Amino acid sequence: KLVLGIETSCDDTAAAVVDETGNVWGEAIHSQTEVHLKTGGIIPPVAQQLHRENIQRIVQEALSVSKISPSELSAIATTIKPGLALSLGVGLSFSLQLVDQLKKPFIPIHHMEAHALTIRLTNKVEFPFLVLLISGGHCLLALVRGVSDFLLLGKSLDIAPGDMLDKVARRLSLIKHPECSTMSGGKAIEHLAKQGNKLHFDFKPPMQRAKNCDFSFSGLQHVVDKTITQKEKEEGIEKGQLLSSAADIAAAVQHTTACHIAKRTHRAILFCKQRNFLSESNAVLVVSGGVASNLYIRKALEIVTNATQCTLLCPPPRLCTDNGVMIAWNGIERLRAGLGILYDTEGIRYEPKCPLGVDISKEVGEAA
Ligand code: ATP
Ligand code: FE
Repeated sequence: KLVLGIETSCDDTAAAVVDETGNVWGEAIHSQTEVHLKTGGIIPPVAQQLHRENIQRIVQEALSVSKISPSELSAIATTIKPGLALSLGVGLSFSLQLVDQLKKPFIPIHHMEAHALTIRLTNKVEFPFLVLLISGGHCLLALVRGVSDFLLLGKSLDIAPGDMLDKVARRLSLIKHPECSTMSGGKAIEHLAKQGNKLHFDFKPPMQRAKNCDFSFSGLQHVVDKTITQKEKEEGIEKGQLLSSAADIAAAVQHTTACHIAKRTHRAILFCKQRNFLSESNAVLVVSGGVASNLYIRKALEIVTNATQCTLLCPPPRLCTDNGVMIAWNGIERLRAGLGILYDTEGIRYEPKCPLGVDISKEVGEAA
């Protein structure tokens, strides 16, 4: 079985052909990051235009690298939720045309489900397992019980950690820092933090009184913002110039972020074990998303998994961020499970907002 996966939910146009053993036959990706960095964020119509300009070429490239004829495909899988409406629309309408032309079944994909299942392509991981997804656009903890059987334990009530780190990096003007100018905000913070002392600033972990698995990062972002303004005054410099205490601030904000993420994850593990959702002795925690590449945050999570006898797994970095392989693999998983394979695409729509699985976050809070 071979599945073509197509992803356009945000700012990457990606496609891949994957088989049922997890072999990647061909893949291609076009990232819009450079364009969006210049405007300081994604402008949806610009993203839409770039997807339109690239989708044909990217899908063609994935197919030609894989050296298969499209007739050999078992199905076409495409992200239809959640994401930017204008971006999702490009991928969906392109895919529907292709499905029609090739007379293939269509498998609509939930972007977060795909992120969560990616680990099963690279590692032998059985259900159930716990997943922590931390990126620029997402932040959630979920129990994965099956291909399309998720319990949502917690999510960010405001922004995602990558978004917060990007905003702090921008506020610190790290793009002007000679060592960080080409790095994403989160990576720049991690890099600079190594040169700083986290004890010079004391940013409190968010939501300390809420005994659930939800997250919050916008309060932390505002506190850091205020601190930076105050430091600028003290150092007598203008907004937009580099602070001498930037490394200390980076170290402290990274530390608080790691503590917050580790605490919520610890609670999720305890809750799942207490409910017998996860095995006492060989539970697995999967961590993915762009922020998962942060080694300081990983260390904090390692402490949690060591203390709870869990195994910590992360997909390789190229599969942690948005890609076509994870969409194709999700298609394979659904094909094998016989779930959500459409032979008639009449009435299919993209959904910009769509939670993952059954939300039991309230129950988690009440159990504590
Ligand atoms: P989505 O949420 O749909 O996956 P995205 O583009 O925001 O989309 P990713 O590409 O997975 O997400 O991750 C990008 C985010 O990860 C950015 O916010 C970036 O700052 C953050 N990031 C990347 N490297 C690091 C790092 N080493 N430490 C912390 N954050 C990082
Ligand atoms: Fe993503």
